Amino acid sequence: MSKDYSIETKCIQSGWKPSKGEPRVLPIFQSTTFKYDTSDQMGALFDLEDTGYFYTRLQNPTNDLVAAKITDLEGGFAGMLTSSGQAANFYAVFNICEAGDHLVCSSTVYGGTFNLFDVTMRKLGIDCTFVNPDSSPEELRKAFKPNTKAVFAETIANPALVVLDIEKFVDLAHEHEVPLIIDNTFATPINCRPFEWGADIVTHSTTKYMDGHAMCVGGCIVDSGNFDWGKNPEKFPGLTSPDDSYHGIIYTEKFGKGAYINKATVQLMRDLGSVPSPQNSFLLNVGLETLHLRVPRHCENALNVAKYLKNHEKVAWVKYAGLQEDQYYALAQKYLPNGTCGVLSFGLKGGREVSVSFMDKLKLVAIVTHVADARTCVLHPASHTHRQLTDEQLVEAGVAPDLIRLSVGIENVNDIIADLEQALAEI
Ligand SMILES: *Cc1c(COP(=O)(O)O)cnc(C)c1O
Repeated sequence: MSKDYSIETKCIQSGWKPSKGEPRVLPIFQSTTFKYDTSDQMGALFDLEDTGYFYTRLQNPTNDLVAAKITDLEGGFAGMLTSSGQAANFYAVFNICEAGDHLVCSSTVYGGTFNLFDVTMRKLGIDCTFVNPDSSPEELRKAFKPNTKAVFAETIANPALVVLDIEKFVDLAHEHEVPLIIDNTFATPINCRPFEWGADIVTHSTTKYMDGHAMCVGGCIVDSGNFDWGKNPEKFPGLTSPDDSYHGIIYTEKFGKGAYINKATVQLMRDLGSVPSPQNSFLLNVGLETLHLRVPRHCENALNVAKYLKNHEKVAWVKYAGLQEDQYYALAQKYLPNGTCGVLSFGLKGGREVSVSFMDKLKLVAIVTHVADARTCVLHPASHTHRQLTDEQLVEAGVAPDLIRLSVGIENVNDIIADLEQALAEI
């Protein structure tokens, strides 16, 4: 869809395209169900012989139109919305892995994703090997097994802020004839489009920058359409062998490049039901309309705050890939030349306790679990999101015990810095 338009135009115009006399703004199809005239018409839908809406758990026009916009922003082939980022990552993997299969995943992924793969998916019989994303290809190769079905990583890891060497991961995944799934939540398609570097599937927690205002939890999966599931059909039987729940259709034969998203929709969404409310998708779409304006401002403010903190005598360290001295600056210049994200992390001299008391002194900047919305906020992962991890796992996840995650919003940066300054003066 409209690959010729620039990304700013796609943020506003992609998805809903009204014709004569239709509403200018994306309508909310607040309906669980859809009407048909004959029983046969409805039957054809259940057999996947015809396409059309019949029940919102499977598909809803508002949800689909917003998915189409995100698909267009990523330069993908097909996409779907889910009720959360967690659901998106679970479906993205479970769509091609079953009991007895194995996944290779970066150890620095978001804590929720780490738990999902390390605890819950193991209970389903899906094994996962976590790898240090900075390891050499030789080292990373050792993680692969004959039953490996996918590689998973984040463009910019939350909250470790590790920038992924996407091409290194693409090469490794493809060498083993499995897809690379990238969670692109922090970068957003404004700053990085992983398909342009060869990734196969992209996921998002739309809860973050895409929504942008901390209104709705949501997720999205986008397929590039480029991975050839049929090349090793025995590796991906869910896509290449008959589905008994649809009279034996074979997704790759029936849907071609659309096999992956169609299966996730008509099978996983049908059976597991993590569907977003059309009302939430409408709000997500409003957020997407300004994504291209907000993301650069988040990055500009974050870089200014990072430079301020770097020069403060009470600050022990700052991590932000936009800083020239950062370990990931070169990778960020390659994959995210227009900016990384609005999230940075830092530690204070005196360690964990000082970091915590500093946070309590903030006035404008709030302590919330959220990141990546318009309002500046902080979190102490070791006491909050990552509190279930052992100290060893914390280090592996790239989360130092004194790490403060600061999500820089789009307020006036001088006001943000003034608040940090008064809190630093108090400790
Ligand atoms: C927040 C987040 C998730 C989980 O998304 P929810 O919408 O909270 O379910 C997954 N991945 C990343 C990178 C995140 O930041």
